[in-house]
Amino acid sequence: MPHPSTVTVFRDVRPAGGAPVELVVVDGVFADSVPVGAVAEVVDGRGMIALPTLVDAHIHPDKTAWGEPWYSRRPASGLAEYVQGDVDLYRAQETPVGERALRLLSHAAAQGTRAVRAHVDVAPAYGLDALDGVAAAREALLGVLDVQIVAFPQHGLQRTPGTAALLEEAVRAGLADAVGGLDPAGFDGDQQGQLDTVFGIAERYGTGVDIHIHDTGETGLAPLYDICARTRALGLSGRVTVSHAFCLAALGERELDEAAGTLADAGVSLTTAALGESTVLPFRELAARGVLVGLGSDGVRDSWSPFGNADMLHRAHLLGWAVDARLDEELEACLAPAADGGAALVGLPRVDFTPGSPADFMLVEGECVPQVVVDLPERQVVVRGGRVVARHGKLG
Ligand SMILES: [Zn+2]
Repeated sequence: MPHPSTVTVFRDVRPAGGAPVELVVVDGVFADSVPVGAVAEVVDGRGMIALPTLVDAHIHPDKTAWGEPWYSRRPASGLAEYVQGDVDLYRAQETPVGERALRLLSHAAAQGTRAVRAHVDVAPAYGLDALDGVAAAREALLGVLDVQIVAFPQHGLQRTPGTAALLEEAVRAGLADAVGGLDPAGFDGDQQGQLDTVFGIAERYGTGVDIHIHDTGETGLAPLYDICARTRALGLSGRVTVSHAFCLAALGERELDEAAGTLADAGVSLTTAALGESTVLPFRELAARGVLVGLGSDGVRDSWSPFGNADMLHRAHLLGWAVDARLDEELEACLAPAADGGAALVGLPRVDFTPGSPADFMLVEGECVPQVVVDLPERQVVVRGGRVVARHGKLG
């Protein structure tokens, strides 16, 4: 006897704000029709808009104070002081890191996030505790939210002895899917040393790489080009990301063309958190030149900033704000890095509501997609693999 299929029919829904249709889901993917003899569960979409669920391609769940008593931040300037602020906040929290991460990631999933790439601090100050906590949250959310983990040397690799060994241990123990890095030429002060270590671990264990570059000008561009060269040399195309890459935001058209060509050829992707007008990546220009760009929350209510909410629809809204989106097509385009860009970045198939595409979507009340990006309606229903996993912004 073949295994009976799980079939759900979502009636009266409007994919991407189009005409109402009936969406049939068989065993987690969209299908043409209900299989003969199958009994379908029916969900009434009441004319709501169906949008793909989104990917948070860059978040720090271990640093969050989300759901905790208000935390008052102290003045800080420069990376070293912010990093010390992380440690202070971490030590001040009464709730264990795993519980805080689970709370934040559960909230993200309930707001329509299907996957995250979590950068988790690895440093002698924490050992692997933060990684253990986020890995436990990942287990708890299996089937609801995919969690990729990057072992992130926030305190520097070269400037903080002991970090390289911890990174390697994290990867060897299966706690991390990728190795992180941080401002190799600026904060860490040894571009070659840091990149040798990061790419060495990636090569030995077959992991991905995702490196934060906040540095601007040549201090940011030189390691970015170095990362592209190493990616090509090691055959890691499609497995390497540069996060933030503020150095690209200020480039003129000719330099951007050159950088985009190098990134696209090497198969190195980018993430932006749309933190502001001067640092947001020109994501449409980059995508048009073949560079994969994902969108992320970055820190959420952490020591660096009291802002953030791990809601990727809201992040698409902030992206629109940062690039001064005004036209409908400009507003709609802000969803692309959160939907298709992020999915490609974490290795998930895109959601386009056609047969064979994964049934990962959310239902919201609204007129059309541009209006939804502006108004941020409640996520009435969130569906993962054809199964309703959240209603009205709550899991369960
Ligand atoms: Zn980050």
